[in-house]
Amino acid sequence: MRKRSALVTGGGRGIGLAVARALAEGGDAVAVTCRSAEPPDGLLGIPCDVTDSASVDAAFTAAEKAHGPVEVMVANAGTTMDQLGAMMSESAFTSVLDTNLTGVFRTVRRGLRGMIRARTGRIVLISSVVAMQGARGQANYGASKAGLIGLARSLAREVGGRGITVNVVTPGFITTDMTKDLPDKVKEAALAGIPLGRYGDADDVARVVRFLASDEAAYLTGAIVPVDGGMGMGY
Ligand code: NDP
Repeated sequence: MRKRSALVTGGGRGIGLAVARALAEGGDAVAVTCRSAEPPDGLLGIPCDVTDSASVDAAFTAAEKAHGPVEVMVANAGTTMDQLGAMMSESAFTSVLDTNLTGVFRTVRRGLRGMIRARTGRIVLISSVVAMQGARGQANYGASKAGLIGLARSLAREVGGRGITVNVVTPGFITTDMTKDLPDKVKEAALAGIPLGRYGDADDVARVVRFLASDEAAYLTGAIVPVDGGMGMGY
């Protein structure tokens, strides 16, 4: 495969790191953005906070300088601030939206500049099964992840004619830092709802993202691709 310039936000750990490694194994030159994580060995680590447009812009500029115009963009950075909706503070709502939805908008808008010029590109947004099913305590997170679907599908219509695909992956319960501290009761309930009978791991998601970023997925855009062991079956 041709060596492309790829950028993964939040690629210092978890799902983002697995995606970055999968793309690199496939031959791409990969840059990962890190906010608090250490830059991973063997990948170009670039500091970036997706809540800051200037920081996003600087990250793309650094990736472009090192590897050329970004052709593959994976918007993975995300956060949670769980609380029951009736008790959730406005700042807990807006700050999760700022990272998970507006942060993706900032990233995609900046990345599209080069892709539109090059008339080629692959964009993958990491949403969640929670976008479709909801989850107790995650009104902010669910709203942000559902927003990604409208964002992706609007963009898919806008830039499809330029050879750019925009797809959404909705992981289920994946073993990472984000899920490790959940109460056992929550973990057990989640497991009971997974037909494949196990939690996912970051590589399960990474392999699907790599496919969506590949030439094989050239005729796939505006899709929602679940990677959830069947957890969200039916949407
Ligand atoms: P982690 O908590 O391990 O990783 C979160 C990543 O997001 C980190 O790399 C972190 O960067 C980055 N990040 C968070 N806030 C910001 C910010 N403001 N600016 C830049 N980067 C930021 O979680 P996962 O790997 O599990 O999550 C990755 C994505 O997958 C998220 O979007 C999450 O919502 C989604 N997801 C996860 C599921 C799961 O079960 N784990 C299920 C469904 C979706 P840093 O480390 O540098 O601070």
